[in-house]
Amino acid sequence: MGLVVQKYGGSSVADAEGIKRVAKRIVEAKKNGHQVVVVVSAMGDTTDELIDLAEQVSPMPAGREFDMLLTAGERISMALLAMAIKNLGHEAQSFTGSQAGVITDSVHNKARIIDVTPGRIRTALDEGNIAIVAGFQGVSQDKKDITTLGRGGSDTTAVALAAALDAEVCEIYTDVDGVFTADPRVVKKAQKIDWIAFEDMLELAASGSKVLLHRCVEYARRYNIPIHVRSSFSGLQGTWVSSEPLVQKTQQQGDQKVEQAIISGVAHDTSEAKVTVVGVPDKPGEAAAIFRTISDAEINIDMIVQNVSAASTGLTDISFTLPKAEGRKAIDALEKNKAGIGFDSLRYDDQIGKISLVGAGMKTNPGVTADFFQALSDAGVNIELISTSEIRISVVTRADDVNEAVRAVHSAFGLDSDSDEAVVYGGTGR
Ligand code: ASP
Ligand code: MG
Repeated sequence: MGLVVQKYGGSSVADAEGIKRVAKRIVEAKKNGHQVVVVVSAMGDTTDELIDLAEQVSPMPAGREFDMLLTAGERISMALLAMAIKNLGHEAQSFTGSQAGVITDSVHNKARIIDVTPGRIRTALDEGNIAIVAGFQGVSQDKKDITTLGRGGSDTTAVALAAALDAEVCEIYTDVDGVFTADPRVVKKAQKIDWIAFEDMLELAASGSKVLLHRCVEYARRYNIPIHVRSSFSGLQGTWVSSEPLVQKTQQQGDQKVEQAIISGVAHDTSEAKVTVVGVPDKPGEAAAIFRTISDAEINIDMIVQNVSAASTGLTDISFTLPKAEGRKAIDALEKNKAGIGFDSLRYDDQIGKISLVGAGMKTNPGVTADFFQALSDAGVNIELISTSEIRISVVTRADDVNEAVRAVHSAFGLDSDSDEAVVYGGTGR
């Protein structure tokens, strides 16, 4: 029996009852003979509450203090969880990210892990303890300041520790039974996926699926750490995310490889906005000037569309999408360079949504794109932007149309389950 890393999200440890329930599950794994490392998130909506509090005392809190504040959330849950485990008669010790050896760069609020030196965790395990680690945090290599990894960063902590400790699996416990073919909060007939390849999971995460963070999946793929996403409420088998197909033992046929479906799922995202640069001269260097301005402001963009220029004016429009939170910054940066770039005006639209269809089978199955557009048209959904990768098609629509569009596409590709409705055990999806 090897070492397992288990990660519990905020909704799994939302209150004392939740913490006790999780403690029992952890002790089970230990009793089964595993060495157990647990990564825990802050209880319930603690992180959001701390952010609200910070904003009340300062509109622009300093990154260093903000991170110091937010990491307190995970310290609360790690200590309580260790106490609950000890109460069940087992040894447990809690560690902050820094104590666990999670070393990051010094970009506050979205630090990247650059090294993991889990010496103290190893020692704790060797002495027979269950090690509890605060997720979402580390310590910067140069300044030795406390950092956070960005919202939802505990998943990344878990995978990084699993890699550094050479764990056999990283189990991510959440408030749904696994990765679904669509967000079960929107599509009641969404189905749990038994196995999905890293590539498809990366596209789903990049397209707005919230169950696993992109950075966490990227990390797992780089170190080839299988992830098992499952519910801390039901104890059912969840979704395996790995490079190799899952092998299931069946009574009739023996070992069976689980095939990946042609279409893995439908993701949606309403966190983006669209900027349109109107009246751009249609000559070389214009797009470069616009996107240089955006990248100098350290803004990441998603889709880009350039319209055909009107023959009479020689002017064109360029639209792109970006996180709503970066909208103001992008508009200000473009306005400042208006003369240099040369355009007429800017339009900003934050009432958009994105729907993406993901599946490696797209590469070899013609007609997927046509069926996708047909489903949207049958649902009366108008398309504003389109972008594709080898294994994904995404469209931008009105935000109001998103839920309807997701359900329509999900049905059209035969992804609706005919049995149980998907269960959401907890959390606000916030
Ligand atoms: N507590 C942090 C958040 O809510 C980190 C996490 O949950 O993974 O974003
Ligand atoms: Mg959380």
